[in-house]
Amino acid sequence: MTQAIAVLGSTGSIGVQTLDVARMHNIKVVALTAQRSIRLLEQQAREFQPVMVAVGDKDAAAELKIALADTDIQVLAGQEGILEAAHCQGADTVVNAIVGVAGLLPTLEAVNAGKNLALANKETLVAGGEVVKSAVRQKGVALYPVDSEHSAIFQCLQGCPEQALEKVILTASGGSFYGKRREELEKVTVQQALKHPNWSMGAKITIDSATLMNKGLEVIEASWLFEVPDEKIDVLIHRESIIHSMIQLKDHSIIAQLGTADMRIPIQYALTYPERLASPVKELDLSQIATLTFAKPDTDTFACLRICREALRRGGLYPTVANAANEAAVQLFLEGKISFLQITDLVGEAAAAFSGASCSMTLDNILSADRETRQRILHQYGGDD
Ligand code: NAD
Ligand code: MG
Repeated sequence: MTQAIAVLGSTGSIGVQTLDVARMHNIKVVALTAQRSIRLLEQQAREFQPVMVAVGDKDAAAELKIALADTDIQVLAGQEGILEAAHCQGADTVVNAIVGVAGLLPTLEAVNAGKNLALANKETLVAGGEVVKSAVRQKGVALYPVDSEHSAIFQCLQGCPEQALEKVILTASGGSFYGKRREELEKVTVQQALKHPNWSMGAKITIDSATLMNKGLEVIEASWLFEVPDEKIDVLIHRESIIHSMIQLKDHSIIAQLGTADMRIPIQYALTYPERLASPVKELDLSQIATLTFAKPDTDTFACLRICREALRRGGLYPTVANAANEAAVQLFLEGKISFLQITDLVGEAAAAFSGASCSMTLDNILSADRETRQRILHQYGGDD
C-alpha cells in the first residue's frame, strides 16, 4: 500500500477526491500541483503540509509564494516546477490528475524517477501509450488505473489467469445527449453539454462524455493498460453507471464490478492496492436500483467513438492527433467559438488529413504532432494558444 503521494492536478475534480482519500487513510502528501486555482491550492497546502507545491502559471505561482511565506513549503513555478513535483523525493506514488496531454511529461518524469503511477490522466496513454508503457516496463514501476472503467477491469482481473481473458466490456453512461440524433444536436449549448446525468467531473471530460470521445479515449487507454486490441474491447451503453465495466473470459463467464458512482473507490483502490479499506462511499442498494439497462452506442451520431477506434487500429501517431484535435475543439466549444457538432467534425477531419503514418513513436514526434494539430485548429477558429 502507498505511504506517500504527490498529487498532480490537486485542485481538480479527481485531485480533490484524491486528497479526501489521503485524509481518510492518513496517506502522506508530499507535493501538490495546479495550473492556477491558488486559493484552493493554498488551503490544501496548509492542511497537508507538503514539501512543495508547484503552479503552472508563473504569475499565480508568485502570488502563492507570498501567501505561503509564513510556512516552510517550497513554491515552484511553471512546467519545470510541475516536473519537479512529479519526481519529488519521498513520494512512492504519483497521482496524475492533470487534464489533457499536459500530463504526458509529468507522467514520464514520475516513471523515470521510479515512482508508481496512479493514472487518471487518460490522455497520457492515448497520446503517448508506447513511450509510457516502455518506460514503465524499463523502470519496473506499477501503473494503477484510476479511470473508473479501467479500475473496474483491473479489479475484475484479480485472480484471473492471463490467458483466460477474451474481451473487456467498457460501460458508458451515454453522456448528456444520449438518444439524440444529429439534427437535434445542432443548437445545443455549453450549459446543456456540461450537465452530466451521473457524475460531477471537470469540464473537459464532461464534454468528452457528451460526444462519446471519452469512451473512444477509454478504448485506447484500455488497449494500452490491458494489452488488448480494438476488436477485443466492447462498449456498452449503461445509463445507470452502476456496473463500472466488465470482463468476459474464455468460458464466457462475465465478471463485473458494481458500486455507487463515486470516484473515491477507484482512487482508493489505486492507492491501497491490493488492500481493501473502508470507504465513506454510499452502499449500493440494488433493490432500490431495481433495473439495469444496456444498449449499443450510436456511433453514427456520436462518431468520435468510431474515429478513436479507427485511430487505434491505424496506430502510431493517429491517436495522438485525434486527441490533440479534440482538446483544441473542446476548448473552442467551451469558449463559444464553435458548435457542439463541430467538435466531432474537427476530430474526424484531423484524423483523416493526418499524413504521418510512417513517423516513429518518439517523444519528440508525439509532442510535435500534438502541437501542430492543436495550433492549426486553434488558429483557424481564433482560440488562445
Ligand atoms: P479538472 O479540470 O477538474 O482538473 C484538472 C487539474 O489539472 C486541475 O488541478 C488543473 O489546475 C490542472 N491542470 C489543468 N491544465 C494544466 C496544465 N496545462 N498543466 C498542469 N496542470 C494543469 O479535471 P478532472 O475532471 O479532475 O480530470 C483530470 C483527469 O482525470 C482527466 O484526464 C480526466 O479525463 C480524468 N478522469 C476524470 C474523472 C472525473 O471524475 N473527473 C474520471 C475519470 C478520469
Ligand atoms: Mg471513465
